[in-house]
Amino acid sequence: MKLDQKGKVLAEYIWIDGSNGLRNKTKTLDKAPKTVDDLPEWNFDGSSTAQAPGDNSDVYIRPVAMYPDPIRLGENVLVMCETWDPDGTPNKYNYRHEALRLMEANAKHEVWFGLEQEYTLLGPDGWPYGWPKGGFPGPQGPYYCGVGTGRVFCRDIVEAHHKACMYAGIEISGTNAEVMPAQWEYQVGPCEGISLGDQLWMSRWLLHRVAEEFGAVVSFNPKPIPGDWNGAGLHTNVSTKEMRLDGGIKHIEEAMKKLEKRHLEHIKVYGEGNELRMTGAHETSSIDKFTWGVANRGSSVRIPRACAKEGKGYFEDRRPASNADPYRITGIIVETMYGSLPE
Ligand code: ADP
Ligand code: MN
Ligand code: MN
Ligand code: MN
Ligand code: MN
Repeated sequence: MKLDQKGKVLAEYIWIDGSNGLRNKTKTLDKAPKTVDDLPEWNFDGSSTAQAPGDNSDVYIRPVAMYPDPIRLGENVLVMCETWDPDGTPNKYNYRHEALRLMEANAKHEVWFGLEQEYTLLGPDGWPYGWPKGGFPGPQGPYYCGVGTGRVFCRDIVEAHHKACMYAGIEISGTNAEVMPAQWEYQVGPCEGISLGDQLWMSRWLLHRVAEEFGAVVSFNPKPIPGDWNGAGLHTNVSTKEMRLDGGIKHIEEAMKKLEKRHLEHIKVYGEGNELRMTGAHETSSIDKFTWGVANRGSSVRIPRACAKEGKGYFEDRRPASNADPYRITGIIVETMYGSLPE
């Protein structure tokens, strides 16, 4: 990996496929790009990723964000891309395009997002890493924010991923072991507008890439193990400029009224299989009904105690599942607060 690249640079082009997964391929560049605009558009075979028919299979990938590559180091870069069809329209799975329009149209509100990405690490056999083969560990209790053998699994992956994100310039704000053993969380944010989606997708790619080095499988399944085991979410913390100012709580309350009216539409884009997670137990609310409250982890949206006390701050939408697309979540929240855009 330390061999001289003779002045050339590697760019890893990364995009979202037709099943909410990530794909990537490597391009050799003659010189280091200074900004994302120096990176050429590229393409891939969309018929191999469920993104295009076989008889018209080219899908274009357009660079939209660039990060230093913590795996290859040097001047090499990771490149987040949007997918575009040959007729000049966004690919069916390009949810970033509409989210970006919404973020730009409402830029004056300076919307910040902080997402808590939960996930589970599995062995190559598909069973949670460190669990007895075909069996179960002791009941939940000692694992959340735990330390020590038998209480946490794969901390080496978690540490390597945290550092990789920092090197790449991802605004990763923390990490903790979760309630179910082999389940972890990290937070990205607060980030303004579209950059949250870009950074969260890149952090997911880095997690897959780092876990690959260790032979572990990353699962974003919102209920990986049925029964008395916590599911995995993607709590979405949101604030606007107005909410962060003194007296901002009234803007948070206005947002609650708007969110309530759109609950079912939100649930539709808040992840696949979320109905198995959002049962009303295990620190979730019921999927059928919108509720909100101060410090209540059993409601759809929680207002942190400190925000209620200070009369300003942010709210936490606890509904999104771990596998939800951050572009879709942040897009629909902005649309709900400020209205839809003309075509
Ligand atoms: P929890 O108590 O729900 O586990 P965490 O500490 O895991 O909370 O996550 C809190 C998240 O809220 C972080 O990602 C942080 O970046 C985000 N956050 C903090 N302040 C704001 C804010 N004003 N606007 C949006 N997000 C915020
Ligand atoms: Mn080929
Ligand atoms: Mn958290
Ligand atoms: Mn958590
Ligand atoms: Mn949370």
